[in-house]
Amino acid sequence: VNKTDPDIGEAYATHLAALRQVRRSAKQAQKASGVSRRNLTKAERQVVLQKTGSRCHICGGLIDGPWQADHVLSFSAGGKHSADNYLAAHDICNNYRWNYTFAEFQEILKLGVWVRTQIERRTSVGRNIAFQFCNYDRRRAARRKSGIA
Ligand SMILES: [Zn+2]
Repeated sequence: VNKTDPDIGEAYATHLAALRQVRRSAKQAQKASGVSRRNLTKAERQVVLQKTGSRCHICGGLIDGPWQADHVLSFSAGGKHSADNYLAAHDICNNYRWNYTFAEFQEILKLGVWVRTQIERRTSVGRNIAFQFCNYDRRRAARRKSGIA
């Protein structure tokens, strides 16, 4: 691999788009199957929460507030609506995990860890991303507060 290859970034963008297409195809197949969602009962939610000892299965943190029963295999990828396909997750963790496939989520984690290091080392790309991200996140929080979502 030529590490200075300018096309390497373009190839990575194409790879991410291909992963997104896999997710979209799975979602379309799920919709076509006609299986509908249902809510868990209170008792089922209690079973889900106890599976991880009241910890978020995404970040590992203790759940002491609002939480969501997260599909281990996403509904859109054909996951079932039984308690054994759910694990507890913080609202924020579950909202960011969204319905990404495993492969997409692994790329997001790799990117996030790399970006975090760039920011902490104050590299030029890290400073740029920190500035852009903080502005984005501030606007996002303001939209949430005003209820525009
Ligand atoms: Zn969490």
